[in-house]
Amino acid sequence: MEKKYKVAIAGFQHESNSFSPKPTEYDDFLKSDGWPGLTLGEYLMGEFATLNLPLSGFIQAASDTCQLTPICWSSAEPYGPVSKDAFERMIELICNGVRGAGEIDAVYLDLHGAMVCEHCEDGEGEIIARVRGVVGPDMPLSVSLDLHANVTPEMVALSDTITIYRTYPHLDMADTGKRSYDLLMHMLRTKTKPHKAFRQLSFLMPLSSQHTGSGPCQSFYDGLPAMINEGVTSIDFATGFPPSDIWHCGPAIVAYGPDVEAVEGAAGDLYDKVALAEINMKDPLLSIDEAVELAISRGSTGAPAIIADVQDNPGAGGSGDTTGLLHALIAKKARGVVLSCFWDAEAVTIAQAAGEGSTVSLSLGGKSGPDEVKPLQAKFIVETLSNGIAMCEGEMLKGFELDLGPTVLLRVKDEDSDIRIVVSTERAQCLDQAFFRVVGVEPVEQSILVVKSTVHYRADFEAFASELIMCASPGYSYCRLDDVNYKNLRLGLRLGPNGKAFENKE
Ligand SMILES: [Zn+2]
Repeated sequence: MEKKYKVAIAGFQHESNSFSPKPTEYDDFLKSDGWPGLTLGEYLMGEFATLNLPLSGFIQAASDTCQLTPICWSSAEPYGPVSKDAFERMIELICNGVRGAGEIDAVYLDLHGAMVCEHCEDGEGEIIARVRGVVGPDMPLSVSLDLHANVTPEMVALSDTITIYRTYPHLDMADTGKRSYDLLMHMLRTKTKPHKAFRQLSFLMPLSSQHTGSGPCQSFYDGLPAMINEGVTSIDFATGFPPSDIWHCGPAIVAYGPDVEAVEGAAGDLYDKVALAEINMKDPLLSIDEAVELAISRGSTGAPAIIADVQDNPGAGGSGDTTGLLHALIAKKARGVVLSCFWDAEAVTIAQAAGEGSTVSLSLGGKSGPDEVKPLQAKFIVETLSNGIAMCEGEMLKGFELDLGPTVLLRVKDEDSDIRIVVSTERAQCLDQAFFRVVGVEPVEQSILVVKSTVHYRADFEAFASELIMCASPGYSYCRLDDVNYKNLRLGLRLGPNGKAFENKE
């Protein structure tokens, strides 16, 4: 029987938006909200190991061959850069766990790849460096990253292999952990490390152009398995996370294998394929008025039109409390509308105190910017009070229990329109029908759904929607990049496909 390899495993994920109004603090990593919170040690081996997360996939794959030392896993909803305090406390937990694991053969880290910290712009490069500092240069160290990683040369140099999600919506998070396990086992069994190739593209790809079920991205990802051969054991592509204002922001390619020329060749081929596709990438966003008019004309009960408020996606650092679409829906007298989920803890407290069936006057949302966003001043009927807890059943986070904190369903008191809003205490991206069912709303029965999400929502909504509409309402999860106030990118990097080149004006 093959010996069992001793592997220390940990996860620490954050997607940091340099433009979000507040830093991400330690407490944000502790709580479970739209995503699991800090999970320690043996708790990772229970229910957590059944979820669609990279660490879960790694644990499942390693159950027969490895003796695992599970250290911790944490993530926080995307927002501003991670505070130094939060980073140092989490990395200390991980490094102490690796030190305490005793004699180990390898390490696996489940990271995001777009973490920016207050004191360091390459969060994952720093995480890997710290762990490398504990285990030394020779120990096999595998990393998995989110598709939205801004991969840096440091991440590649300090790890031995990197695997990256291949789907957006992220349906293959657990599979990506399994692929990291395969690469790690190959290193352990052959006692060799693969050659590496790394390429960075010369343009930013907005989140709104990154759906992997259609368009150019579909062809990039569909083509990856066929690039594997004797010389190339792994090749992956990260589309990048444009709202991280850092030098290494943008799409990148990593490839690994025993044949250095084949590995470099494969990375070069994929680079050419992506570079050639740039010309065909179009901006899919409609203006607020166009989006609302299209939704009114196309949506009906049983086949709702869905407006994605892509630039206020809490899953990409949006505040979740912008009101541009709500103002337009009221002005255009839209009916059969439900929006989820809108972040305003203060409004929830007032509505909960007033009770179901009461009418409250609120200045809803618009508290976090950007400057042009104004609160919605109106009267609302409190239709439903909820504890904010519901089970996700969509493909992406099936089996995860969502916890939005106290949550309410408010109806805008207005005879001409029919608009309801799911208002939550926690900030979270609407990526599962549970975000509506948590207050008793059945999504398919509405005419228009508004989701604060960019692409993830498609996993659980696309099948019954009559129309999917991306709207350019203002928010911090920028998808139109030309006017973003970048300061730290590489000179010459294009701000979107076929966009203008970045020049530092300072
Ligand atoms: Zn992602």
